[in-house]
Amino acid sequence: MTSLIPCEIDLANYLARALTSNQLKLYAQHLVEVNTGVPVGAEVLLRVPQPRKLSLKNQFRSTFLSSSSINTEQWIEAASHRGLIEPLTEWLVKKVAEFLSNSASFIDIPLSINVPPSVLTSRFVKFLAAMLNTYKVPTSLIMIEITETQKPFDLRALNKVINDLRDMGVKVVIDDFGSGYSTMTYLVDLTVDAVKIDRSFVQKAPENACAYSVLKSLIELAKEVNLQIICEGVENLQQFDLVKRLGCNIVQGYLINRPMPLEEALNESKEFITELPLH
Ligand code: C2E
Ligand code: CA
Ligand code: CA
Repeated sequence: MTSLIPCEIDLANYLARALTSNQLKLYAQHLVEVNTGVPVGAEVLLRVPQPRKLSLKNQFRSTFLSSSSINTEQWIEAASHRGLIEPLTEWLVKKVAEFLSNSASFIDIPLSINVPPSVLTSRFVKFLAAMLNTYKVPTSLIMIEITETQKPFDLRALNKVINDLRDMGVKVVIDDFGSGYSTMTYLVDLTVDAVKIDRSFVQKAPENACAYSVLKSLIELAKEVNLQIICEGVENLQQFDLVKRLGCNIVQGYLINRPMPLEEALNESKEFITELPLH
């Protein structure tokens, strides 16, 4: 097992305390239909605020405190080592259900939640169902993004969980599509609704012939098996035009908007009009 360095221990301790004291923040970023500019979803992203008021080691401070929230990759790494991803995911599911129950009357776009395969178990399905039931939230308002992972997992067990989620009415998306070692296996063995193509291909494609070919092939592959195609990390019009031309259905990225507090994002989606060239 990998040993934890002191910085990670500090961050993991901080995360565990931030979780129990409700200090974590929910942000969201819209997903927009390419032909109409209409928001068709929003991805929920967890923000871990700086530990301003806590007295932590200087080493920890200088490493993690360069912006208003802690770098996502770093907290995910620390949370994974400490076994905190599952409690963090459950906390987020509960918060999202709570939030939707207070605003479901005006929210009609699904919220995506990032969940790694290690957390996608029958326990998770039961927990999600219980939360949606408790807070009277329609299952159609939840989408699960299966994030890329280095850890081995049982593909058949994962597909059973995906089927259970889809039977409930929850949509399931393969995130970071194309970036991992298991892209083809995922496509063959998992029954999902959509793929979200990794932003590295989207961003390099306009200037890099190889990235362009890979992006084109990934989109064609997904179309061939009737999956919806989401392209993330769309930062400029050149990338937008390209993914649209290649057949992508939905885009997400800084061209549309930056992640913002969840409440703000959902209020905005009511009156959302993008200035994309939609012709
Ligand atoms: P992701 O699932 O690929 O999420 C999208 C990430 O891309 C977000 O970073 C978002 O801020 C960033 N992004 C959005 N548009 C653009 C763009 O146009 N250009 C660029 N360069 N980046 C863009 P964030 O929030 O730092 O999240 C990083 C990763 O951490 C996520 O990648 C996701 O895998 C993971 N993550 C975030 N929140 C959660 C969570 O609640 N649970 C779990 N398990 N993972 C999470
Ligand atoms: Ca995601
Ligand atoms: Ca992604």
